[in-house]
Formats: sequence, structure tokens, C-alpha cells
Amino acid sequence: MAISESLIAHHEAAHAVLALDLGCQLEYVALVTDGDSGGHIHADSLAHRSQYGHDVQAFIADCENEAMIALAGPYAMQKFKPCRTKLKQQRYIQAAQDDIDYARNCALGIALARLENQIPQGTEVITQEHNRAAAEEHQRVCAKTERLISERWDAICRVAAELQKRRVLLRNDIDALINPRLG
Ligand SMILES: [Zn+2]
Repeated sequence: MAISESLIAHHEAAHAVLALDLGCQLEYVALVTDGDSGGHIHADSLAHRSQYGHDVQAFIADCENEAMIALAGPYAMQKFKPCRTKLKQQRYIQAAQDDIDYARNCALGIALARLENQIPQGTEVITQEHNRAAAEEHQRVCAKTERLISERWDAICRVAAELQKRRVLLRNDIDALINPRLG
């Protein structure tokens, strides 16, 4: 059984809304239905764009934002259509495996930065202590993402509906949908 188009639309819309909320340079979000790849967003990566110097806290904040933008996809799927069976949950996880792997990697970066009080170089030997701390960071970021998805659910649904109609939304379109002008 395939993942439905509306489910994919909410997944992508959630990436887009959190990316803009968290100050990411989003260019567009697209919904394509060509088999495996459901859709995608095109955004600059915060954690690679920033110049950190020795600013460990800035690095941690950016990693956390990137992890939340990634996790927004799977959490939106779960909120839009909650899984009632283990089998279905497994399919959601598979559909969002890249996002989840990416977020876990961000959590490891956060854990390393906190424990060693320096920006990770990518050459560290990962210990059990690092892995334990990373799992805790991941849980914390997951909980925070779930909260943000709840808070922004109306905006995410507006973007998802428009995305299903127009297939591609540019940054300005998304801005207008998530921060509508009153009056
Ligand atoms: Zn995704």
C-alpha cells in the first residue's frame, strides 16, 4: 500500500513551514509523484552555512533547528494520519528514513559539542557515552518538534492543500500562506 499524496503533501509542508519559521533560506517546496520520491524541499543547510568560529552554542542551536526541520516531515505524517498498527508505523518510518537519519546525526553533533565543549570535526571516536547523550538529545529534539508541529498545524495544512493544487510553491507563496495578512 502506497503512502497517499495528501500524506506526502503534509510531510513536505511541515518541512517548509518549520524551515521558514526557523530562518532557513528555503527556495521552494515541490510535490512530485514519481514512484519512490514523494516530494522535496530545497533549502540551504543551516549548520553548513554558518561560520561558527568557536561559538559552540551557535553550532548547537543550528543543529537543533536542522534536526527539527527534518523531523517535521515524519511528525506531520503521524499527526495527519495517526498509525494504528505497527506495520503502518514501520512504513512511515521507512518513508522518512533519510529525515530521521539526518536528525540523529544532528543529535550526535549536539551531544559531541556539549560533552567536549567544542565544535565536532567529524573525526571523533564515538564512545558509548556519546551515543547515550546523542539518544537523549534526539528524544529532546523529537519532543520539541512534536510541539512545534502542533502549534503550526493550521499553517502546515494550508501549505499542504495549496501544494496539492499547484505542485510547486515558491518561498513567497509559502510566506503568504503561513503568515496571512489580516484585513
Ligand atoms: Zn522529508
